[in-house]
Amino acid sequence: MEDLSRRTFLAQLGLTLTAASVLPDFPAVAGKAAGILHPTAGKKLNIALCGLGNYAGALAEGLMASQYCRLAGLVTGHPAKAHEWRLKYGIPEKNVYSYENFDSIARNPDIDAVYIVLPNGLHKEFTIRAAKAGKHVICEKPMAISVNECLEMITACKLAGVQLAIGYRLHFEPTHLEIKHFGQDRVFGQVRMIDASLSYQTYDLTKAEKTTFNINDDAEWRLRKTMAGGGPLMDLGIYCIQASRYVLGEEPLSVTAQFGPVHNKVRFSQVEESISWQMVFPGGAVSTCMTSCGFNIDRFYAAADEGYFELSPALSYGPFEGKSSRGPIKFKVINQQAAQLDHIGASILAGEKLPDHITGKEGLKDLRVIEAIYEAARSGKKIQVSA
Ligand code: NDP
Repeated sequence: MEDLSRRTFLAQLGLTLTAASVLPDFPAVAGKAAGILHPTAGKKLNIALCGLGNYAGALAEGLMASQYCRLAGLVTGHPAKAHEWRLKYGIPEKNVYSYENFDSIARNPDIDAVYIVLPNGLHKEFTIRAAKAGKHVICEKPMAISVNECLEMITACKLAGVQLAIGYRLHFEPTHLEIKHFGQDRVFGQVRMIDASLSYQTYDLTKAEKTTFNINDDAEWRLRKTMAGGGPLMDLGIYCIQASRYVLGEEPLSVTAQFGPVHNKVRFSQVEESISWQMVFPGGAVSTCMTSCGFNIDRFYAAADEGYFELSPALSYGPFEGKSSRGPIKFKVINQQAAQLDHIGASILAGEKLPDHITGKEGLKDLRVIEAIYEAARSGKKIQVSA
């Protein structure tokens, strides 16, 4: 009975978020894999977006398409942006905050949750401030820039009695639910080897020496260690770690890693330009991954005892496509942000605890792996991942 209602909910989500097509909405195991909770009819979770940059734009569109969440407030450092967004999304002035007066959101009953879409180095501060204001928190990936920060965030949310979700959009995407099922349910036997890469060329390598930039510009926060925590590993490589972990359903035991290649030492003076790493899992599987700002790649491959499965594009916004040794893998394209928000919104509205795989516990696990990868690359040694 429970499985049936979960599947019905997912099927409804798929139907409302996608155009009609002959492609399936969700894999048959979607309900089980997504850990869906029961929606509460007619209600919406009122969310304030904190930091109105590029990804906040995608989330705002996701909120517009969401059945269980509503864009109800804004937090920004730029009054002109606040004005533009207010008009576009019909937000009342009393629901708009600056970073300075943000704490007074505690007195606003129109806001249930704050979605932190700030540079990584600000996630901890604003998560803790939102929790102290009594608001549920959704925080973008990476959860923070260190394991210790993640622990502080989890503690603050626990003490305040609010839920803490991390913006893992792929946990609700049908293609990813399918590969998670392939790996964890051993549809092709035991997975032995994973090869995953996600990279975007973020500057013109041929003009690298001539390109001028100011590392202190707000727009360049991804190049600053204090704001980003690291380079593409924090931003993109985290998806390779995530996919390896949820396809295998295991936590890596140890990692080895190597920095490079480096094309522009000036631009990448504080964070890595590229990094490769290898993770060894308890079942014996090895995952080898790469991320870089120097070239474009977006792929996932898993070799198992009785076959293989692969996606390309695999980890970006899609649309995802792939094949396995049994045939093509393709599902209807969904609005990933709306699907993520709907699952989080439905759970919180129903007063149910969010499933661990989308909470701060999951964000913490990724940061443990990331810290081990950086230590391995710096030391040249194999590093055990802390439990
Ligand atoms: P942007 O640089 O586009 O936006 C960040 C926003 O943060 C700015 O526009 C600004 O908003 C606010 N901000 C506040 N203080 C600062 C500061 N000191 N320097 C720079 N910005 C500041 O970044 P993104 O939107 O691309 O990324 C934001 C977060 O979202 C990151 O953690 C990133 O990892 C994550 N992300 C997640 C994605 C996903 O698919 N899940 C995709 C892309 C990003 P304002 O002007 O309103 O004050």
